[in-house]
Amino acid sequence: MTPTSPTTITLPPSLLPADGRFGSGPSKVRHEHVERLVETGSTLLGTSHRQQPVRAMVGRIRAGLSELFSLPDGYEVILGNGGTTCFWDAATFGLIEAQSQHLSFGEFSSKFAAAAKAAPHLKDPQVIESATGTHPLPVADPDVDLYALTHNETSTGVAMEIRRPGGAGGPADGLMAVDATSAAGGLRVDPTQFDVYYLAPQKCFAADGGLWAAACSPGAVERIERIASSGRWVPAFLDLKIALDNSRLDQTYNTPALVTLYLFAEQLDWMLEQGGLEWTAARCDQSAEILYTWAEQSGFARPFVQTPRDRSHVVGTIDFVDEIDASAIAKVLRRHGVVDTEPYRKLGRNQLRIAMFPAIDPGDVAALCACITHIVGALAA
Ligand SMILES: *Cc1c(COP(=O)(O)O)cnc(C)c1O
Repeated sequence: MTPTSPTTITLPPSLLPADGRFGSGPSKVRHEHVERLVETGSTLLGTSHRQQPVRAMVGRIRAGLSELFSLPDGYEVILGNGGTTCFWDAATFGLIEAQSQHLSFGEFSSKFAAAAKAAPHLKDPQVIESATGTHPLPVADPDVDLYALTHNETSTGVAMEIRRPGGAGGPADGLMAVDATSAAGGLRVDPTQFDVYYLAPQKCFAADGGLWAAACSPGAVERIERIASSGRWVPAFLDLKIALDNSRLDQTYNTPALVTLYLFAEQLDWMLEQGGLEWTAARCDQSAEILYTWAEQSGFARPFVQTPRDRSHVVGTIDFVDEIDASAIAKVLRRHGVVDTEPYRKLGRNQLRIAMFPAIDPGDVAALCACITHIVGALAA
């Protein structure tokens, strides 16, 4: 029997999601926010980032993140250009004192470990790895001055709870630096369990990339100031003290992308109006419940992550049985405007990866599942 060619499969329009963007970053940007951006006319885009309209927007982002994460007194939000990848380099210069410990369980978490390992001014980092589809746990160690964790490993769809490593003497005293790029705004977090919770706005915050933001505890601010006054050479663009000083004035060291700032601020306002982090996390829970239940009941697909507790509620990874080519499904979806369901390229599995960020309607996740079931039926016909 010749399998049906994916190029001939047609999805009934009634089955399609209202919005077909399921990418894990850049991710769905809400139409409402783009329309409001257009309405700002000549008052925002093309104006100085050192003047009130843009600085007020940076202030909204800093205050909005503080409110969303319920940051305790003394925590500060710092911003800079260059996205999360740039922040890893900045942290290698300005947050790690001598030795870091990294949990490495996918493409993103391995990158910060590599940056710390390559830095000539630091001791070799401790790197704790685990098989893809799982996550390791941090191990308290008095030599470690920074624990590098990843709240949601976007390449594999594994999420982990953020908790300081304990030990006989109570919690370890190294800084907890958490890559929350794809988790922040969609997964619950206890701010007393982190010192630096850093992110870029092209995931849950439904904006464009190119910016990083970091919620910093007083301990982290103290570390930044201490390293800055220690005489260590730091390139100005990666200098967290310069970023801190500018952020306190509601600006960035060099010119930011105003569209990114605008969309970020709008998404934060939207999240807070809807009910804040509990509302967004509950919405992501609902999408995840729909996706994983559908996969488990499908007979042809299953969640890639074995342990239900580790399954991400913001980025779902679904494996398909060998007889069904996941890339053929992604092609049919793409032809219908349902895009970016392809798996993380380096994972190399017969898989689809589906973002369930707060901007994505759980109803659209359900529609996507129905579309995939339809395609699988047609492929087998
Ligand atoms: C997307 C992502 C990154 C990379 O972010 P950039 O802004 O592109 O540098 C890093 N870590 C995680 C967990 C991510 O999801």
